[in-house]
Amino acid sequence: MTTSAILIPVILCVSLFAQTSPAAEAAARVLERPPAEPANAFYVSNRPPLLASPFAKLPIGAIRAEGWLAGQLELEAEGFSGRLTEISPWCDAKTSAWVSPTGEGERGWEELPYWLKGFGDLGYVLRDDRIIAEARRWIEGILSSQGEDGWFGPRSNKTLIDGSPDVWPNMVALDALQSFHEATGDARIVPFMTKYFRWQLSVPAEKFLLPFWQKMRAGDNLESVFWLYNRTGEAWLLDLARKIHERTANWTEGIPTWHGVNITQCFRQPAQFYQLSHDPRHLAAAERNYAQVMGIYGQVPGGMFGADENCRPGYTDPRQAAESCSIAEFMFSFERILKITGDPLHADRCEDAALNSFPACMTPDLKGLHYLTAPNMVQLDKENKSPGLQNGGCMLAYDPHSYRCCQHNIAHGWPYYAEHLWLATAGNGLAAVLYAAGEVRAKAGDGTEVRIRETTDYPFGEEIEFAIATPKPVAFPLYLRIPGWCRGARVEVNGKALDVRPEPARYVAIERVWSDGDAVRLVLPMRISVRVWEKNMNALSIDRGPLTYSLRIGEKWVRYGGTDKWPALEVYPTTPWNYGLVIDTEKPDASLAVTRKPGPVPRQPFAVDAAPIEIAAKAKKIPEWQMEGGLVGLLQQSPVRSDAPVETVTLIPMGCARLRISAFPRIGEGPDARAWTAPPPPPPASHVHDSYEALRDGIVPRNSNDHDIPRFTWWDHKGTTEWVQYDFDAPRTLRESEVYWFDDTGQGQCRVPASWRLLVPAGERAWRPVEGASAYGVERDRFNRVTFTPVAVKSIRLEVKLRPDVSGGILEWRVK
Ligand SMILES: [Zn+2]
Repeated sequence: MTTSAILIPVILCVSLFAQTSPAAEAAARVLERPPAEPANAFYVSNRPPLLASPFAKLPIGAIRAEGWLAGQLELEAEGFSGRLTEISPWCDAKTSAWVSPTGEGERGWEELPYWLKGFGDLGYVLRDDRIIAEARRWIEGILSSQGEDGWFGPRSNKTLIDGSPDVWPNMVALDALQSFHEATGDARIVPFMTKYFRWQLSVPAEKFLLPFWQKMRAGDNLESVFWLYNRTGEAWLLDLARKIHERTANWTEGIPTWHGVNITQCFRQPAQFYQLSHDPRHLAAAERNYAQVMGIYGQVPGGMFGADENCRPGYTDPRQAAESCSIAEFMFSFERILKITGDPLHADRCEDAALNSFPACMTPDLKGLHYLTAPNMVQLDKENKSPGLQNGGCMLAYDPHSYRCCQHNIAHGWPYYAEHLWLATAGNGLAAVLYAAGEVRAKAGDGTEVRIRETTDYPFGEEIEFAIATPKPVAFPLYLRIPGWCRGARVEVNGKALDVRPEPARYVAIERVWSDGDAVRLVLPMRISVRVWEKNMNALSIDRGPLTYSLRIGEKWVRYGGTDKWPALEVYPTTPWNYGLVIDTEKPDASLAVTRKPGPVPRQPFAVDAAPIEIAAKAKKIPEWQMEGGLVGLLQQSPVRSDAPVETVTLIPMGCARLRISAFPRIGEGPDARAWTAPPPPPPASHVHDSYEALRDGIVPRNSNDHDIPRFTWWDHKGTTEWVQYDFDAPRTLRESEVYWFDDTGQGQCRVPASWRLLVPAGERAWRPVEGASAYGVERDRFNRVTFTPVAVKSIRLEVKLRPDVSGGILEWRVK
């Protein structure tokens, strides 16, 4: 998605709106972004010297979602987010330090505010009394926790970092308090925050924002300081803002951390400080951070980037995943920057992550979540995928009881999205920036409260209708975002086409005296397009409008744990997934057929059987493309040769697909097409320095320090846990093993290990110790024999714990 030159200078538009007396005839213009002045008279905008911004957030409750978005919110209310007090020990009021009168309790870090921030907003946008009341209980606890000095929240956080405060959990809690204020107007919030920020200002700089999360993530703290400043105008708050910026990790001159959530949450920090600094370098730095990360790790569809904890050099395939926290935080970051700059690209980016990646991080009933979501993922089982994914352990299965941060944090994803469908604008207008069915009720023009009902199936449909209700005629500018992917957008007012030709990534501004019953119709033609990922083996992805499409893969859901109400589930494929597309990238329409299912879009369209749109595509199987290490095999260079017959496969929106191929190999016939090569077998050891074959060469050592025969060592790994394994063509029944350790005391730095054990497979990439093992000896100069309960296996693994500061090795390893 690219932008070209500005069509109309912003200054011209300002004067146009300010000086022209509105006429009943619609005057329409195309703008790169709405003007930033004059500030909106009805909703809190940036107060000087903070930079004037084109948009102001409407108070929570001004926007009511309908259609599929209301469906997500309602499911969330009855899903794990809405019922987390039943599930999470961090949301237990009896033990939480967040609501303890003394600030003491078993649990008092980020989890509770992470959840409360989304949970409260969920209640406010749904007007759900149960949720509002539950959120209030927690907020009252937080409000009553404030001390004389202004600190609030768990006492332990005040001295958590070597005696200095950790204010990161409080940054999150402030978001919850601000929403509470917006929703209720509660008079205690402003003085509470004022007192807390006074305390922040009093903390010596050298003790403020010490590593780690708080140092990275203090852009959130900054935003809350601006929120308060815009309400009170107290100048010392800007001194605090500068102090926060100075003590925050330097996101202006580079990326200070490659942790996924830090990036999605903090790449924007310089753009936030730009509101105070007015230094274009700060605004540019946020865009550079985004572009740098996406340029390396985001060369995939879905709007996210691969950081299955951290970004790792070389791990850029579409099977690399984004943490659920990252998706929700990215959405929120784009909503925040959109408000600062008005640049519609941020709305595109927000929709990309929200509509393509976010839905699949949860089960369709929103009762379970997983930690990691990737564009290509074909099996979601509970087994360890490390090192293919950075984090070991269960990361892909859906479990409402695991994934501690995400389980609490993603509650804000859909509520915040719903709150940002509409924004108030400078010049007392309204802007539709993210499209979904619903209604906004807000003051515009001379202060008349208008209602605009938005009817649409977007992103599954390309038509959006706005019905205006007003008690009296009122003049105000209405801004409609034109997405960056959209060519040929059309706008009608009361059935009459407007004389504008909006280019992508612009706004159409309609200035007129609006009357009750006026109708605006926006058509955003959605055409199929193909993206070629040159940095990812020339793989293809198929887009139509804001949605990317994935291979429809049959799903088999298997419960493996949890409770009857909150089960933990794996998902296995029931249909083949190893397809490449047969497609003419120049004329994709010729090989792809779009079908819109009849009937209304379901309340939950993001499920494999509910997909409102399907695309039939031509494809060929690539038989050599298989799973590797429990993950989909890495992509290989396209075009790919395949002798398999051409088949018709079905593509569905990426957000509907829990199992998915979204970045496809392209099938080719020409001389440039390559055969898919079977992947190399996984290495048989954690590390091999000299000779793996020495393990079983049959040469009996003279002693453990025998330097005349081949040996296997883990050199130069020292003090670590290491392993080596035998793999057999067919299962063998094993009951005994003998190890002759290498130990070159006096000559080198290899010693017998501190301890060791034998492991056998327990499912895909998981291992368990052999049963009934006799002693695991570590004697030198002899075979150390161990017997165990007979077991029939195709592999056996020898795991050692090396002694501190030394390495280790084996001269001969027998199994019987
Ligand atoms: Zn998380």
